Amino acid sequence: MKRLLGVMGDPIAHSVSPAIHTAAIEALGLDYEYLPFRVTPERVGDAVRGMRALDIRGMNVTVPHKERVIEFLDKLTPRSEATGSVNTIINDNGVLIGDTTDGEGFLRDFEMIFGPVRGKRALLLGAGGAARSVAYSLAAAGCGITIVNRTSEKAESIKSMLRRSFDDIFVEIGYNISDSVNNSDFVINTTSVGMIHPEETPLEGSYLRKDLGVYDIIYNPPRTRLMREAESVGAATANGLGMLVNQAALSFVSWTGKRPPLELMFEAASIALF
Ligand code: NAP
Repeated sequence: MKRLLGVMGDPIAHSVSPAIHTAAIEALGLDYEYLPFRVTPERVGDAVRGMRALDIRGMNVTVPHKERVIEFLDKLTPRSEATGSVNTIINDNGVLIGDTTDGEGFLRDFEMIFGPVRGKRALLLGAGGAARSVAYSLAAAGCGITIVNRTSEKAESIKSMLRRSFDDIFVEIGYNISDSVNNSDFVINTTSVGMIHPEETPLEGSYLRKDLGVYDIIYNPPRTRLMREAESVGAATANGLGMLVNQAALSFVSWTGKRPPLELMFEAASIALF
């Protein structure tokens, strides 16, 4: 009998997670089915309880439920506990465990492209939900972090979270953007600036230089203005499609115990998106 997996969010119709996971399920010939579920905010508790009743093996959680879902779960992994975010629920014989694979998915892709981050410095633009997971994984891997965000309280909250979670981590709030870029090896955009309005950028092009690695976690559009301006000064760039695929792959391993084919997942994501 097939076991169920899925993703809950609101809206959910645009999600490419079903395409990514279905590609892996079919390639490995597994007895699973992955479905999208539109769950409105007031039904999050019902949806989570339903996982136990229906023996749904696993669920991805997306906007706007990544924090809200926590109160309905039995346990959290340390990284979910620290970041206050869940993107993956594992139903372990009725015990619902919350995990977040966003940060680790980011880090895997990032290190594959730009090499090890240990001992390096990253300028993190943004301090929203995705930034918390990205910052946690960077810090866990030994990368120093400068956070710049429009709302400084949120940057302070990430700084406190990192200080609580890790000893000996370099973390600061960047107040002077020029110094912050100059002291960094990488620029990582975790804001949504450049997504809806492609002409906008979270960092003026004049700050960019050739030896920076620039990663934009936005994947649609695939080349943001930040990336285009970085490329024009000769900097290496990447978008967030690899983060999306790698976070999915990590969830997939938790549920099925199988290593999924990353290349096929990339292909499925690209076809679904573009
Ligand atoms: P979020 O929690 O709403 O955070 C949004 C961030 O963007 C905040 O730091 C916010 O600053 C900043 N921001 C928004 N509009 C801004 C503006 N006009 N000027 C300056 N800063 C602005 O969202 P999220 O869930 O972290 O997602 C952020 C982006 O990451 C989205 O584009 C999302 O699609 C993408 N994402 C990608 C992946 C992936 O797998 N590649 C995964 C998750 C998210 P304030 O704090 O000042 O409001």
